Amino acid sequence: MSTTSTTIPAETARHVLWVFGREGGYRPGSFTQRLLELLAHADAANAAKLAQIFPAEAAAVQLAQYDECGIFKLSAIATGQPIRCSRCQDEDGPFTESGLCEPCARPMPLDGVA
Ligand SMILES: [Zn+2]
Repeated sequence: MSTTSTTIPAETARHVLWVFGREGGYRPGSFTQRLLELLAHADAANAAKLAQIFPAEAAAVQLAQYDECGIFKLSAIATGQPIRCSRCQDEDGPFTESGLCEPCARPMPLDGVA
């Protein structure tokens, strides 16, 4: 299931962040909350069915669950701010779970050449 072409609205990103207990989220209405929880518990086949009707919600939940830096991406969508590395403040991804860009996450070679 490809979700790369799906645009996730900022509101949906905030709702998914809330459902996953992350910073920057806020509680959706009861229907949306249950929908997002349903998507989070759906197996691949059911997630694909739901994604046909709720593409943005499905894409956002998929980001939160399966993308290594999905929470950062959702935070970026929710705030409208680009994702930045927590160490060098660079905007170039991909980012690790701890919010570091790849060069920062990579162990520095002993000869100091990065
Ligand atoms: Zn960095």
